[in-house]
Amino acid sequence: MPAKGIGARRKTLLLVTALVAAVLIAVSLAILLSLLLRSAPDNGNAGVEDKSNYRLPTDVKPVSYALTLAPFIYSNIRDDCYFTGSVSIAVEAVNDTDMLRLHSVRLEVPTVRVRNSTGGDVSVEKIEENVEKQWLTIKLGEPLRAGETYTVLIDRFKGKFVKNGKTGLYLSSSYSENSTEYYLVSSQLEPTHAREVFPCFDEPAMKAEFNVSLVRGREFTALSNMPIKSSSLVSGNTWFPNSAEPKAVMKDDFKTTPTMSTYTLAFLVAKFQSISLTDSKGRVFTNWLPPELVQKSNFTLSLAAKAIGAFEELLNVTYKMNITKQAGVPLFHFAAMENWGLIIYQQNILVYDENTTTTKSKLSNALTVSHEIAHQWFGNLVTMKWWSEIWLIEAFSIFYSYLGLDLWGSESDLDSHFVVDQKYKHVMNLERKRYKVHPIQMNVSTPTEIDGLFDYIVYYKGGSVVRMMHNSIGARVFGAAVSSYIRKHSYSNAGSEDFYSSLNEQLRIHKQSLDAKTVMSSWVKQVGYPLVTCSMENGSLLLRQQDIVSLSHKEKSNLTWSIPITAMTNLNHTGWSRSEVAHLVHWMRGETLRLPLDSSTDWYLINLRSSGHYQVNYDRQNWDRLAAQLTTDHTVFTPADRASLIYDSFTLASLGIIDYSVPLKIVTGYLENETEFAPWAVFWSNLKKMTSSVLPVKTVKRIAKKVFNYVTTVTPKASPLVGMLAELTARETCDRDFTYCINFAKDECNKCKVRNSTCLKNPDISEDITGYKCKTGK
Ligand SMILES: [Zn+2]
Repeated sequence: MPAKGIGARRKTLLLVTALVAAVLIAVSLAILLSLLLRSAPDNGNAGVEDKSNYRLPTDVKPVSYALTLAPFIYSNIRDDCYFTGSVSIAVEAVNDTDMLRLHSVRLEVPTVRVRNSTGGDVSVEKIEENVEKQWLTIKLGEPLRAGETYTVLIDRFKGKFVKNGKTGLYLSSSYSENSTEYYLVSSQLEPTHAREVFPCFDEPAMKAEFNVSLVRGREFTALSNMPIKSSSLVSGNTWFPNSAEPKAVMKDDFKTTPTMSTYTLAFLVAKFQSISLTDSKGRVFTNWLPPELVQKSNFTLSLAAKAIGAFEELLNVTYKMNITKQAGVPLFHFAAMENWGLIIYQQNILVYDENTTTTKSKLSNALTVSHEIAHQWFGNLVTMKWWSEIWLIEAFSIFYSYLGLDLWGSESDLDSHFVVDQKYKHVMNLERKRYKVHPIQMNVSTPTEIDGLFDYIVYYKGGSVVRMMHNSIGARVFGAAVSSYIRKHSYSNAGSEDFYSSLNEQLRIHKQSLDAKTVMSSWVKQVGYPLVTCSMENGSLLLRQQDIVSLSHKEKSNLTWSIPITAMTNLNHTGWSRSEVAHLVHWMRGETLRLPLDSSTDWYLINLRSSGHYQVNYDRQNWDRLAAQLTTDHTVFTPADRASLIYDSFTLASLGIIDYSVPLKIVTGYLENETEFAPWAVFWSNLKKMTSSVLPVKTVKRIAKKVFNYVTTVTPKASPLVGMLAELTARETCDRDFTYCINFAKDECNKCKVRNSTCLKNPDISEDITGYKCKTGK
């Protein structure tokens, strides 16, 4: 909206100003002359504005902010709620400029004052708002000088809470201890919503320190990124001039943040309660939730502390925040947001109840916590230079969330969960259909384009590509590169090139001849992924890559990728480590690759542990031999390998590339002896796409009987993946009304009716078996 009170000047300085006016005029003329003689500056300083440019000019950079926010949430009428605030921004002029440009959206900005380093006013000629570009442009009467520092003061700006808004500073409601409903405010500033809360330089590379103050009613708690430094009682009228209540309010001043981006700031004013723990290094972790939920959040509280320790070890970079808070709010746009020092979640994610939370939810919530903790390094400490490269924080956090969980004691093969849940389900199935495909890294400019990057491609395909690189060059080399990259760019910003350069440094040290940029660019800048087709030719193995997306759509494509090929055969399968495949990698850089193969080889398997982001097709003889090996002893393959054999064979059959008899031979020959989650997850999800004429229901019933018996007798929650398998098996067999499931459900229902206390207490199967079947009376 248009600004009022343009050109405000401090009256107290009028005399001084008059005295030095002549000098200033002379200086101004000199500067004006020098500006005219220089070439036209970019980024909108020029007379003709570039319509496609949404970036701020870099003539000034923010150094620190003093920000006070005062949300008025004390009315019973929603529309009467609003927030006011004041911000003072210390900036440094990088170039001479007579224009200041910040971001601001839907804020009433009555005045803007600019002062030089000695406290003198710099005259403000005009304030312009550009609604489309979300800019507040301040035209100055005199130029700012390169190398000088200035303060931009914006007092008493005001904002409304957007109806049903979930970005910026937004309103929701919860219940206090005495069960009365009240309004609370929380924030979500990523990617471009800080500008909805206060005028600021809202770009990830425009980092600064923040001194935040929050004004709150006395019965409320205020939280921000840092711990509270001091609190004082202030007059409510100062901040809420038109509101009768409250008369007196508290103002909490928080400690100065580290140098950080605007998008990881956080604000919360609510009637929450907390639980805390202190780790071995004396750091305090606190969960903040509504009173009735907070005691159920011990699991996620200790998980956060453990994950911090795990990542410190993995990344070899100390976590320096002394107090870390997690808050669960009733209304949240995403699952969670990693704000530095105050991670905000949807409140159900922080809550865990042993009797009702399924393993699936527990694992998913744990991965969310681990993901947000990983962001404390990937994003908060080292931030991408611009949103185009957001994969540097999201893809890494997706992949590292699994590593973080593995380190806190789980013996489970969570990596196989990554393969089926993140890679197959969330990426490859969608990429083959060309569902909203785009490269992992792509140019974006407008807020809408930036929002579009928070999708499955950046998160899950990015995560899968990061995992592929990690597995291909080895955990030690990859870990050293990531650690060096984080150390080099801490409290600053970095781009893909910076990561590739750290990676190349370590590759050279470890004598691997690989160019990280060439390899990664083929995955990060191209859409789709390859199918590697293998055949025996003249005593060696010939591999050929093709664009699977073009194959599935029967189109021509010249795309090729740098593919890490790993192989094992019946002759060498006992010799390799299950956790590392790096020493087996052959890089396929062109359309084909030839590998030597012993003439006595019976079967061979490509893409071990499904490490690479590609699919594999074999000649019929090898498919049959792999199926025979699975029947004889499936444990020579890892669960991820078994899952990939089922996945590749079913999906290639569905595209008409191979015959359905291939996957059917695999599953009918071995699956009934399978007790791992990953192969079963792939089987059930592909079964949905098949008619019963391809795989008769009675065959499915036979195959699934053993695993049903296993999951209903195994110790509940033996491991995360056993719980996941139990939930999956119960749901799939009960949905198909298999008799062994119906009979089990009947028994359990009867037990519940007769002796309520002894009925099934395993949440993984109780909902699908006893809950569902008892309710429907079947
Ligand atoms: Zn994230």
